[in-house]
Amino acid sequence: MSETQTFAITNGKIVDVVAGEIIDGKAIVVSDGKISQIVETGALPDGIETVDVGGRYLSPGLIDCHAHVFIGQFNDGGHVLASEMTARSGKYLAEMLQRGFTTIRDAGGADQGHKAAQEQGLFPGPRMFVAGRILSQTGGHGDHRGRADTCSCSSQIGGISMIADGIDQVRWAVRENVRQGADQIKIMAGGGVSSPGDKLVHPQYSLEEIATIVEEADRVGRYVMAHVYSDIGIRRAVECGVRSIEHGNFLSAESAKAMVDREAHLVPTLITYEADAKYGMSFGWAPENAEKNAEVLASGLKSLEVALAAGVNVGYGTDLCWSPKSYQGDGLMIHQKVCGPVEALRHATVNNARVVRMDGQIGELAEGALADILVVDANPYDGLECFSQHDNKIVGVLQASKTVRDDHGLFAGV
Ligand code: ZN
Ligand code: ZN
Repeated sequence: MSETQTFAITNGKIVDVVAGEIIDGKAIVVSDGKISQIVETGALPDGIETVDVGGRYLSPGLIDCHAHVFIGQFNDGGHVLASEMTARSGKYLAEMLQRGFTTIRDAGGADQGHKAAQEQGLFPGPRMFVAGRILSQTGGHGDHRGRADTCSCSSQIGGISMIADGIDQVRWAVRENVRQGADQIKIMAGGGVSSPGDKLVHPQYSLEEIATIVEEADRVGRYVMAHVYSDIGIRRAVECGVRSIEHGNFLSAESAKAMVDREAHLVPTLITYEADAKYGMSFGWAPENAEKNAEVLASGLKSLEVALAAGVNVGYGTDLCWSPKSYQGDGLMIHQKVCGPVEALRHATVNNARVVRMDGQIGELAEGALADILVVDANPYDGLECFSQHDNKIVGVLQASKTVRDDHGLFAGV
């Protein structure tokens, strides 16, 4: 189907994620890759081509605001070259699109080259917002050297991150990422689960460094996303102007309020702990990694409750680095346990659209939005298992009106 063609999708039940309602009896008119109109079926223009979806549900395409498609070389012992990594990322991206994720934000690793490949159709895949290389302080979560390794070649340590210390280096690192086309700047503002030398509770980067990174990014229309778990780390990042808190598993009510005041967003990545608990040891984790993982898994659900109670804009991320990316939709079931399917679906659609500054353009089926539409054989409001790997009910995926999945040949005629 060409992206310039006009057609109407009829006999579908529209999932209105903003209102939290199912709309019946209306048709979605698609034109030039966008939703041009949502009208009563009887009011459709004469002669318009129609696609009857047989009473199925129409959901906005899903958004994953914390994906990694160019990471994973560490558990291969550093033996995988960038060319093979790129080929792997093409496969990951294609699978994500089939899973109904029409947009992702890459949280470090993927760069403008991946984005360009997707845009040019070299890789079928979600629309991408890329972070390039992650800024880390020496000894921080992005410093992947072993203790005995004293090499200080600062620009490429770990592949997906760059070590930058002090005001001058962090400024340079932001500029370097922006020069290479990063959409947002990612920093490590605290310890991580997978890194051996740092503790979750210890914040990373000085306030001065974080504020400099934010100022430098803001001046060129970028924002900063920060990997951080501890409450003190979250508070420091938010007070310095970081806009997107990644993980945030130890969030307190006070910090959640600070996030609301500063219009910061929370992107929990709960599914990765559930998956890594199953697979982590097989990837060569030390016992201390597994301990950290168990700790964040236990606290993550509480953080989600705290954020929702405070009114933080909560998004949805997966952070599947080593565990199979087939778990990408399964995190929705974790969110729905806390807040039910109506609210949980907002996290992966309209709320995530705000995180990537695409409100009104993606994450909802509304006039003027891009035609990212999923055809689903179940009502998502009966349970988001319809987007999970084991009980998946997606039978069609349109991305900017282009058919990228069509199990029943519904769209074959237009
Ligand atoms: Zn992280
Ligand atoms: Zn991550």
